[in-house]
Amino acid sequence: MRFLLFSSLLLLAGTSRAAAPEITVAYPPPNSTVAFDHVIFEGHVTPGASLTLNGRALPVGPDGLFMEWLPLKAGKNALKLLSTLGSERRAATFNVTFSGPSVLPAKPTAIKAGTLTPGQPLMFYTRVPEEGRTLSLGFQGSPGGQAWATITGLGRFALPEQTAGRYRLDLTLPENTELTGASIKLSLSGKDGRTVVATAPGTLTFRPGGAARVAEVSVPDVGVGVNPSPSALASGSGATDWLFPRQGQRLEVLADLGRTWLVRGPGGLATARKDALTLLPPGTPLPDAAAGEPQLIDMPGEWLVRVPIRQRTVFDLSEPTAPAEPQAGLSLLIANAAQPAGERHPDGGPQLSWAAEGTALRLTLTLPQPQLWGYFAEYQDAALLLHVRKAPPLDPAQPLRGRLIVLDPGHGGSELGGAGSLGQPEKNIVLPIALRVAELLRAQGADVRLTRSSDVTVGLYDRPLLAERLGADLLISIHANALPDGIDPRFRRGLEVHTFHPMTFGLAGALVRSLTAAVPGLSVTPAAPLGVPGLRLSDLALARPTSQRSVLIELAYLTQAGDLRLLMGGLGREAFARGIAQGIADDYAAQAQAGLTLPQAAPVAVPAGAPVNSPTQP
Ligand SMILES: [Zn+2]
Repeated sequence: MRFLLFSSLLLLAGTSRAAAPEITVAYPPPNSTVAFDHVIFEGHVTPGASLTLNGRALPVGPDGLFMEWLPLKAGKNALKLLSTLGSERRAATFNVTFSGPSVLPAKPTAIKAGTLTPGQPLMFYTRVPEEGRTLSLGFQGSPGGQAWATITGLGRFALPEQTAGRYRLDLTLPENTELTGASIKLSLSGKDGRTVVATAPGTLTFRPGGAARVAEVSVPDVGVGVNPSPSALASGSGATDWLFPRQGQRLEVLADLGRTWLVRGPGGLATARKDALTLLPPGTPLPDAAAGEPQLIDMPGEWLVRVPIRQRTVFDLSEPTAPAEPQAGLSLLIANAAQPAGERHPDGGPQLSWAAEGTALRLTLTLPQPQLWGYFAEYQDAALLLHVRKAPPLDPAQPLRGRLIVLDPGHGGSELGGAGSLGQPEKNIVLPIALRVAELLRAQGADVRLTRSSDVTVGLYDRPLLAERLGADLLISIHANALPDGIDPRFRRGLEVHTFHPMTFGLAGALVRSLTAAVPGLSVTPAAPLGVPGLRLSDLALARPTSQRSVLIELAYLTQAGDLRLLMGGLGREAFARGIAQGIADDYAAQAQAGLTLPQAAPVAVPAGAPVNSPTQP
């Protein structure tokens, strides 16, 4: 989203006659440089005034709003604005620069400096499975040529031209070729008959006979259920299959890929951001966590799975992707922790089973409830603890009574959020809506807290950490949408509810239904991967937390005139607030109903806090 740190609202000074119309450009910021050949040019003039840009009339709404998808020529664009209201006029000039296309001319043949890949030395410490033996070779140069890469000791490879002037090949390295600091030469034969050769900054070392290295995770922990972006440690194999980095975890490193490490995650190969790991000295023993049988413990308000460990290794937590199952479930995969299979299944309690998966240990937990309400894993002494919340007792007559809900109005203080071209940035649009949602939920008995209730700056992770600390049921972040530079805004409008974990899909769907019913004229964006219009799967700091269900609502687009007017009007804001409150109420009503229809669990014959160690009879 196009977040602005400081106000870019520019009141353009012109002639100083008192009645002259005003011109306010909300975006782009004055004298800015963009990397695209179009920019959204938006703002407002005094209502009733007209506006021309370099002599061409721009459409202006009755409220003075103008919003133009403006073509730019390479270099500086001087935008001469003239606004007229009756006999009064105001003229102003606004500058925006397009940094220009990046394609080199076809002649003379040239390779663009700074674009040669690999840009850093690559080192494979040990034998690596085929999917990890990929080497990207390439550069930008004159279009229409023939490009080659020559790796000393390995051979010569053609680089196809992907788009004009961009040559690239993903080469799968052979399994057994030993290479030490092999140089990589890139060449381009152009249309003028000349051949240019350059040496890539990166070299290639490949030691299939060597030993893997060991590293320690050095990403600071944020919270037990608040995780930094999975880009720190990415498995790349699906949205719900990713790693929860914790400081001090040890893992195997197979290669140094320049900007990233190639590592062995719990479920296979993964990449780790360079600054996420600290490499330990050669000869450090490979990690080994296996230490004893897992236990299942019945605690007030939660189920606890305690896995004894010898050493901290990386783990992954995932929910089944089909959350409509009658019984919610959760899977914990711990690297380097394989042990013989087993299970626990106390009467009326969850079912826990575990089995080795390669060198990892997979624990599968099936809960005696249809909905996951939150979970997290943390280390304590010589154990990894998985906390899973029990369904709260809900009053079917008043399901929200006593439930703790955290609302998060986006941005605030020095962080404006999207520009908003009718004089209000995003932070000022979402705050009154969130305050009104709080009123509506409190009227139904909920205990509502806000991450901010005034125009103050709040840290990104402080928002989910508040919900985690309070033990909230829900975290609902409220935003208004804007598009990043370079995307045509004319066809993007409507509601988006962003989720990341399957346990929030039901709630997100309820919010889409209630908001579209409550807000006249609100559309939803077309169906994304989740197959439901308006629902988005997004890796966002406010959708990632797992201690409670967390969703982020983008109410509508600030960059679309109809949407913006909905967000600016008092009636529209009231409707948005009612839609959010109704969606939450509908979800709780459904949860209360589901709780009633579950088969009544037999009482568990163990005192709270005691380990449940009665394996199911075969
Ligand atoms: Zn926002």
